[in-house]
Amino acid sequence: MAVAAHDEVLPTELNPWLAAETRFNEAAQILNMDDGLQKVLRTPSREITVYIPVLLDDGRIEVFTGYRVQHSIARGPAKGGIRYAPDVTLEEVRALASWMTWKCAVVNIPFGGGKGGVICDPTVMSQAELERLTRRYTADIIEFLGPDKDVPAPDMNTNDQVMAWLMDTYSMHVRATTTAVVTGKPVDLGGSRGRTEATGRGCMTVTLQALERFRKQPEETCVVIQGFGNVGGMAARLMAQRGFKVVAIIEYDGAVHNNHGLDIDALMRHKKETGSVVDFDGGENIGRDEALFLPCDVLLPAAKENVITSATAPNLRCSILTEGANGPTTAAADRILQDKGIFVIPDILANAGGVTVSYFEWVQDRMGYFWNEELVNTRLEEMMVNAFRDVVKYADSHQVHNRTAAYMLALDRVAFAIKLRGLYA
Ligand code: NAD
Repeated sequence: MAVAAHDEVLPTELNPWLAAETRFNEAAQILNMDDGLQKVLRTPSREITVYIPVLLDDGRIEVFTGYRVQHSIARGPAKGGIRYAPDVTLEEVRALASWMTWKCAVVNIPFGGGKGGVICDPTVMSQAELERLTRRYTADIIEFLGPDKDVPAPDMNTNDQVMAWLMDTYSMHVRATTTAVVTGKPVDLGGSRGRTEATGRGCMTVTLQALERFRKQPEETCVVIQGFGNVGGMAARLMAQRGFKVVAIIEYDGAVHNNHGLDIDALMRHKKETGSVVDFDGGENIGRDEALFLPCDVLLPAAKENVITSATAPNLRCSILTEGANGPTTAAADRILQDKGIFVIPDILANAGGVTVSYFEWVQDRMGYFWNEELVNTRLEEMMVNAFRDVVKYADSHQVHNRTAAYMLALDRVAFAIKLRGLYA
């Protein structure tokens, strides 16, 4: 019965740009959006390609290709991560940048969408090489960056150290320490408290909102989580603390299951000691696909894109799908989930807790006044609850599914800003 995520599906189903297009088209059509406005929203505002010469530790010079795409700046500065990976493509960065536009609009923060990427293999690069790469990439795109222009953040294979280098490089060029040029910095350098937990916390908040609709308590709710990293690990820990029964965790090398609920803190210690979730004393090993297809109330994919496809979706047995990862569900799988009556909390809503606290970081940097963690969490919860309610209200009033509603809401908000601003032509 079990099939792996990528089996039996056409490569086009896994294309992120086509996935973004499909969702955009559906939402724009239902909104009856003007063709010209659609053209503006479909097209990135700016795409920058730079060729980055870097001196390697062995004395050779290598030239890396880097991108920064600013999809929209209609509602505020472009916002989005920078990823370092060997298989980065402009098409992928473009799709991810547009996702950021919609995500920021759904949670109603005053940002547009952007994304960056550098084609490199950080696993074979030293810290010194990564620092030189980061500084030169920053210098090459510097005129497009700034707290009021474009505010990057960490993404795949970049972290708070990379953001600190970026901040320092920018600050050296403008001759003023400018912490608000980037988010995801270390807390000691203008980062926000609560950022590490923010995405997982946001996933929990929207799931709690969905449970209210199902009139269910966390204590009677079984959760399966795929991915035990930043998003999945934090969601698992916070949900277990809130009383949810986290019955299975799926990692890339296996899965662990306990019908009574896993002890998440103990599992985290086990993973730290052994490098894996398998062979954990407090549960039994189980196949990865078997775990994905377990009957449960909530499935929370928090690992990677394209996990729920036209091949795997028919086997899901959850009532609520909280999309912690970006793009875990293909457009072709959407219809199958709808037919199965699964309540989907789409990625651009469910995992927006991270960018929301990034916004708080930018605000705190600009004020030069830092909030305690409780305040960050309270404000995050408020924004996630509001966003959830906005999406569900849209879904109910337009008689559409949540994902379409989230896209409609986002398109509507961005289009409204464009109309107000005008084209300046
Ligand atoms: P991470 O690297 O910290 O964690 C990912 C985890 O998934 C790792 O433990 C990895 O071993 C596991 N994994 C990888 N492939 C797997 C597979 N095939 N099956 C099961 N497990 C697998 O990354 P993260 O920051 O937690 O991000 C996870 C997803 O959430 C990504 O799609 C990311 O774009 C998205 N996201 C992250 C944030 C954030 O704040 N970190 C915000 C929004 C969206």
